[in-house]
Amino acid sequence: MADGSDAAPQSAAKVGQDQITRAPEQEAPLRATSAAHAVDLRKTYGTGQATVHALAGVHVAFERSRFTAVMGPSGSGKSTLMHCMAGLDRPTSGQTFVGDLDIGNLDDHGLTQLRRDRVGFVFQSFNLVPTLSAGENITLPVDLAGKKVDRDWFDYLVAQLGIADRLSHRPNELSGGQQQRCACARALINRPDLIFADEPTGNLDSNSSAEMLSFLRRSVDEFGQSIVMVTHDPRGAAYADRVVFLADGLAVDELANPTADSVLEHVRALGT
Ligand code: ADP
Repeated sequence: MADGSDAAPQSAAKVGQDQITRAPEQEAPLRATSAAHAVDLRKTYGTGQATVHALAGVHVAFERSRFTAVMGPSGSGKSTLMHCMAGLDRPTSGQTFVGDLDIGNLDDHGLTQLRRDRVGFVFQSFNLVPTLSAGENITLPVDLAGKKVDRDWFDYLVAQLGIADRLSHRPNELSGGQQQRCACARALINRPDLIFADEPTGNLDSNSSAEMLSFLRRSVDEFGQSIVMVTHDPRGAAYADRVVFLADGLAVDELANPTADSVLEHVRALGT
């Protein structure tokens, strides 16, 4: 579970200072060791008085084969960060890397390939295609890429997620939990380098949430998946190896080896 750091959680000021003073030569090791990282990432919406700095210069790295939770108040930039780092949206400035690939250098075709081959995304609202069966939804990324489905991997995923007997059903014939497990299998079918999950349990009851979070945890422990998950729930964050806290478009603090209680304490201390 450890992320290699036994140090006490850093204060917001300390983390901010480290971010600002990070030398360019420190970026190279980050490219080698992190599943994804962002350098001075900014995203601005609107102009003039209506300007919103959704991301105000985020420096953050997400480690390989680790489960990282991202928390912060509503409007702090969590979804914008996920979308920019997954290549679903382009930042206003700054850099985002998946492994050592600077995704700002990719054209639209390159971003499509990145999303198809290297990054999986799980949305709060499942985003399944209503006219396709559960099985067809899961294999959609492979089918779109014109590749052959790895049947052993497919069978493993649907068995692990407990949806092997639901594959011929359309999404509207599945419970919320089953739809999200289906979306999770779809995100994993191409064995991506990392998965971004934006409040994946936000629409699930507590049993379905626990099942989904246990699956995400197992996928890190058993096959080294890298996962970044936005959550509001301290109990959900406690499944992660590390929590990164956002506020006002900045990564302001982090916590290793979280428990629900330590996350709550941190949230209170940050005043968020
Ligand atoms: P979070 O996920 O933490 O709730 P978001 O990343 O969704 O935060 O939003 C960060 C800020 O950016 C908010 O103030 C939000 O209103 C604003 N924002 C997000 N998307 C847009 C958009 N498409 N147009 C204008 N403002 C936006």
